[in-house]
Amino acid sequence: MGAGLVTNAADALALEPTKTQVILKNVRLETGFERDDLEVTRTKTDLFVLVIEDGTIKSIQSNREVSGAVDARGYLMLPATKDMHIHLDKTYYGGEWKARSKRQKSVRDMIALEEKILPGMLNTSTERAEKLIELLQSKGSDFARSHVNIEPASQLNSLKNLQKALERKKEGFAAELVAFPQHGLSRSEGLMKDAAQLEIDFIGGLDPYSIDGSVEKPIDFTVQLALDYNKGIDIHLHESGESGLKTVQYLIKKVNENPILKGKTFLSHCFILGKLEGKQLEDNAQQLAEARIGVISTIPFGKLIMPIPTLYQHGVPVMTGTDSVVDHWNPFGTGSMIQKANLMAQLYGYSSELELSRCLRIATGDVLPLDESGTQQWPKAGDTASFNLVEASCSAEAVARNSSVKALYHKGKCVFKG
Ligand SMILES: [Zn+2]
Repeated sequence: MGAGLVTNAADALALEPTKTQVILKNVRLETGFERDDLEVTRTKTDLFVLVIEDGTIKSIQSNREVSGAVDARGYLMLPATKDMHIHLDKTYYGGEWKARSKRQKSVRDMIALEEKILPGMLNTSTERAEKLIELLQSKGSDFARSHVNIEPASQLNSLKNLQKALERKKEGFAAELVAFPQHGLSRSEGLMKDAAQLEIDFIGGLDPYSIDGSVEKPIDFTVQLALDYNKGIDIHLHESGESGLKTVQYLIKKVNENPILKGKTFLSHCFILGKLEGKQLEDNAQQLAEARIGVISTIPFGKLIMPIPTLYQHGVPVMTGTDSVVDHWNPFGTGSMIQKANLMAQLYGYSSELELSRCLRIATGDVLPLDESGTQQWPKAGDTASFNLVEASCSAEAVARNSSVKALYHKGKCVFKG
């Protein structure tokens, strides 16, 4: 069982970690599915020895006693998760608990609130970002795409403070940054140009029509800035009416005109897709897939249900993120991407072994231990050694039971132990 995984024929030889190696024993890996005439009935696993060198998995060997090895105690190894939408730069986490106020009813109200509170929050934003990164690590994430406020109240200081935190945490956590004109593009064009020349990866945006009064003009600016500085695009789109659909359509058009943006353009939230049905939804999903524009959803609950299964069917890249772990926008974040996979399973009624195991992809950037037919595809020798050890017998159980993370390894280094 699981013999196909073993990469080193010299298993019988004595093994001892060299100075540059980390060896783990009793690592549980998924090796295949058991099926009956209807469905997958069980996920098969086995225990292995894992040899890590220079941050990479060097070999996977039959399990045995290895002196000097770290004991993984039979915990399940799963890919490290990725939080693909968070605001590490403005959080209450690490400070006093505060729920959301009822006073602010719209995005515009929130902008007015931010103008008041952000200057004060900047005093603690580096330390809080570090605390938040530690929370994400404890939930199994070693990577985040963080939006960072670029607006007149913060200038470039929210970015600078976050970069300090990321520098301090870089041994155990990686991130890509989105320059986010949270208070409207028209008020922040100069600052956005300045930010584009700093170490950021994406040009952000926010509800072009409702915040800046035009679908085309802000998108044109954003696309041009991304092209000029060779960045990606990631736009917050909450607008769920006609202007939301127009924005989706206009962005698709611009990306098709500038194919270099394919594969690096994203719409965050994109609630309008949850309002579409039938052929209109299918057409938009198809066009997003063809333009290789991804959708990043926090998997909202309530009246609006995002059509994530339809997006997957059409091959639209779908990812998820925390968005906030307790800030003025939202008090509910746990920081766990496994929990997001769990929410997805509950929302769409995925409760079979195979369906549950597939849900993990939204947390890991589409990396799954087994493919649909049960063939082992992760981990392989040569893969980056970024993974979790989880208290579960298989992916399906980890998703269904929201299992706890016992350890996180980032590029071969243990950066969290529970
Ligand atoms: Zn956001």
